[in-house]
Amino acid sequence: MAYLVPDRIYNANGVTVKEYLLTKHNPNKIALPSKRVLPFGGYTVHNTDKIKVSAQTTMAEQYVRATYNGNMNDVSVHFYVDEVEAWQELPLDWQSWHAGQKGKADANGSHIGNQATISIEVIGNSAKAEDNAARLIAWLMQTYKVGTDKLFTHNYWCNVRNGKKGTVDELNKLPDGYKGCPVYIRPHWDEFKAKVSGYLSEQEEKNVLYRVQVGAFRSKENAELYLARVKKEFPEAYIVKTEE
Ligand SMILES: [Zn+2]
Repeated sequence: MAYLVPDRIYNANGVTVKEYLLTKHNPNKIALPSKRVLPFGGYTVHNTDKIKVSAQTTMAEQYVRATYNGNMNDVSVHFYVDEVEAWQELPLDWQSWHAGQKGKADANGSHIGNQATISIEVIGNSAKAEDNAARLIAWLMQTYKVGTDKLFTHNYWCNVRNGKKGTVDELNKLPDGYKGCPVYIRPHWDEFKAKVSGYLSEQEEKNVLYRVQVGAFRSKENAELYLARVKKEFPEAYIVKTEE
């Protein structure tokens, strides 16, 4: 059996992400969404069930392979996350197909979920997979500068579609009479969201630098002379040119 070979592997806040974009690899000509037109609208979390995989691969890879082979019907998401790693199958600036409610499509409710948000399928009822998803989402939040107020459940979009009113988290949690997705995470949604927030603040702290300045000069020459002195004690010292 041929497993997919990722085009790129990157680290998203401690999670190994393997990128294999269906926009580049689509020999089976499966229907794919298109580039995002609406402004970026946040993140939608799903749960899907565990599947049996051989020791040479992961469930996330196998879900991407199933999509590639046309076995996921018209579902295509940005990320599958399991307890080992994440696989990305669509570019982040593309739409994805995940937020609907069977037989209840509409133009302004759940479709916004498809058209504007990044979709994350968390595989199985697994604390480790949830932790990987929380890390990945925090990384996305740091990248997009769009935070936890735009963190949605699949369930949220069904409630919007069905005309339910409420705050984001009320609709994230309110039963939708459909799948109640993400079925494993939704019962402890607040805890999951707090975990994402925690990773996000950790990342933001990592991005802060406290610099020690020891001098400022109008003349480059003088700055270089002073640097030479400072370097004797602090070899990693360097010059930064700034506007006043
Ligand atoms: Zn879902």
